[in-house]
Amino acid sequence: MSWLSRCAGASKQFESARTQEGPTMVVWDFDWSLINENSDTWILEQLAPTLLTDLKKLQQTEPDRFGRGQWTALMDHLLTLLGTREKVTRGALERRLASIPFADENVACVRLAAAAGCEQRILSDANEVYIDKILEARSLRGAFSAVCTNAATYEDAGDGAEVLRVAPFHPVDEAPHGCRRCPPNLCKGAVLDRWVAECRPRRIIYVGDGSGDYCPATRLVEDDVVCARANYPLAKKLRKLALNVTDPVTLDAAVAEWRDGADLLRIFRRELRAPKQAAPPPKPPPSKPPPSKPLKPFSSKPAAPALVGKQAETKPAKRATVRFAPP
Ligand SMILES: [Mg+2]
Ligand SMILES: [Zn+2]
Repeated sequence: MSWLSRCAGASKQFESARTQEGPTMVVWDFDWSLINENSDTWILEQLAPTLLTDLKKLQQTEPDRFGRGQWTALMDHLLTLLGTREKVTRGALERRLASIPFADENVACVRLAAAAGCEQRILSDANEVYIDKILEARSLRGAFSAVCTNAATYEDAGDGAEVLRVAPFHPVDEAPHGCRRCPPNLCKGAVLDRWVAECRPRRIIYVGDGSGDYCPATRLVEDDVVCARANYPLAKKLRKLALNVTDPVTLDAAVAEWRDGADLLRIFRRELRAPKQAAPPPKPPPSKPPPSKPLKPFSSKPAAPALVGKQAETKPAKRATVRFAPP
């Protein structure tokens, strides 16, 4: 899985490393953003629905081990049960992953961005094996230059059984990443800082839906766009931020809300439209009368979803001066 790159947490020093010559970077969250499901719960529901009952029970009975902020540990535990108790094989797991709901329009967005020369990366709280197998099934691996997500490897569980083990992206034996907005296993904003330092992009299009996408969204700058799935936690948080009721941080990027793949494809077409060319030099006058002027083309397509707008009325003087809400 050499195409997957795991990045160390980044620091604030990498911020604002933008260049006009750099590429447009498209950063995709995975669950409910690139694909149209939550891969963690969908696979359990498909292969061993009783594990969803275990999931709810464990969150209540063992909150220290499997409660809030411990999702990766909970998935690791349930995947072990999937292989040992439910006897689901590696082959069956991977075949089912290949059929997860994935809108054709989202595939079209990835292909459009690739054709436009964008640098595309995935930043996800799923795991390496799920993402790898799902992209492989859609022949999309080559479109992404990096994936940051939780580590996943198969382990021999005896009797020829292999179980998938997942481990947090941010190792438990390392000092906490220190971001109060993010779960302990992954601060997506820190990874985004690192990617910006590596790629020095001209602009970023960020596609997300969850509360884990809020931290990176607040690090975007003017001319960037957050494509937030409507009525999902990220869009709700950004709307509250626009009203200035939740967080003193400001959002400099524009927000484009989308409901489904068709919406997202319209946004991608609009945002990736080639910049206007300089006017060509005037042609010599024609020797015969010019043909009648063609009619202006009429498009019956609905307009692309509107930008919710620049969320911040006032911008912070410097990114480093952004204040965080008191605990
Ligand atoms: Mg998501
Ligand atoms: Zn964070």
